[in-house]
Amino acid sequence: MSQTATKSVIEKHGILPTAQRLEIAAILLEKPQHLSADQIIDQLRLSGSAVSKATVYNTLKLFSERGLVKEVMVDPVRKFYDSTTHPHHHFYNVDTGQLADIPDDLVRFDSLPDLPEGTRQESVEVLIKVRDV
Ligand SMILES: [Zn+2]
Repeated sequence: MSQTATKSVIEKHGILPTAQRLEIAAILLEKPQHLSADQIIDQLRLSGSAVSKATVYNTLKLFSERGLVKEVMVDPVRKFYDSTTHPHHHFYNVDTGQLADIPDDLVRFDSLPDLPEGTRQESVEVLIKVRDV
């Protein structure tokens, strides 16, 4: 994605496109992917960026609040930022720490419970945890 396109996507989500936010968005939105905050920080360092860790965490929080990226919690201490923002399913490899998308049409439900009274369904997302054999 060009810098102009990245800037335009950020602005569409109501986010002021500062230089640091553009750097972080450029990494996340490069392709459909799942990155942890640490992986984003590593990529920033490799490209010679001096963006602080605190700025990265604050920016990722802002991006997910505004729907630019989606947070995927795989366990209480591990969070990924997903450039695909619609509800979808994942495989999470506990051994390698890899998170991968599962195509929607490969997951089917025979039966789901009635929703609690006074609620509507927001989404149904499956996280299948796997291990290497
Ligand atoms: Zn995903």
